[in-house]
Amino acid sequence: MYTEFEIVYSRIFQEIKMNLVWLAVFVFLGTYGLNLFYISVLYHRGLAHGAVKLKPWLRKFTVLSGNWVTGIDPKAWVCMHRRHHQFSDTTLDPHSPWNDGVFGLLRAQLDSYSRTLVGVSRKTPAFAEVVSDLDFKVHWLNRLKLWWIPYLVQAGIALAIGVFFHAWFVGVAYWLGMMSHPFQGWLVNSFAHKYGYQNFKNGDESRNNTLVALLVMGEGYQNNHHARPSSARFSVRWFEVDGGYVLCKFAQVLGWLEIPQKTAQ
Ligand SMILES: [Zn+2]
Ligand SMILES: [Zn+2]
Repeated sequence: MYTEFEIVYSRIFQEIKMNLVWLAVFVFLGTYGLNLFYISVLYHRGLAHGAVKLKPWLRKFTVLSGNWVTGIDPKAWVCMHRRHHQFSDTTLDPHSPWNDGVFGLLRAQLDSYSRTLVGVSRKTPAFAEVVSDLDFKVHWLNRLKLWWIPYLVQAGIALAIGVFFHAWFVGVAYWLGMMSHPFQGWLVNSFAHKYGYQNFKNGDESRNNTLVALLVMGEGYQNNHHARPSSARFSVRWFEVDGGYVLCKFAQVLGWLEIPQKTAQ
């Protein structure tokens, strides 16, 4: 038989545990969303295509903090992505499921990123010319070959969160969310260049994949995006939902960026 105290204690304990489960869910969604915001809004629509005009302070902040948050160098990412547009689904494409296979692409995009980082750092013309308009250098962490520090810091924060809340799964949720970028990239680069429908004939294999677009804030509409790379909005048809564009609109209301009239189509 349990005493009344034991019953009450066990109920409170259960409640705290449940709240921690919800906390873990929110922490994962928050960190997953933060990575998406950096890559889709700041790196992609902002730095790579100029489809949204980041306010100078936000541009500077993105260049300084991007590597710490995503583990990915902003200049190398922009270079790799612009080359993807330049050579879509040809043998020179940095990542295409038609060259690397849907699952092989997970590894291929990492190799490609490393090659691009080296190329941009050494100012190899084929890479440097693609980003000659960017007025910032490769992040010092990468120039000094200290790319691993942000990963170590994120693991440390995850561990600290787990210890602080006495719940390892909250720390794991943080870590998974912060490390979600390669997975998000893989969904877009593989599935949205192989499976889905096309609104435009771009001469490449880009597709619109609704499920990927929902999971990765509009980035799954690769066919639309390849047809209109300088448009801030990746959705075209009435049923297409671009969460990233909603984020851009929200950021515009906050005064963080501007969506030029011609790119809001
Ligand atoms: Zn693409
Ligand atoms: Zn693009």
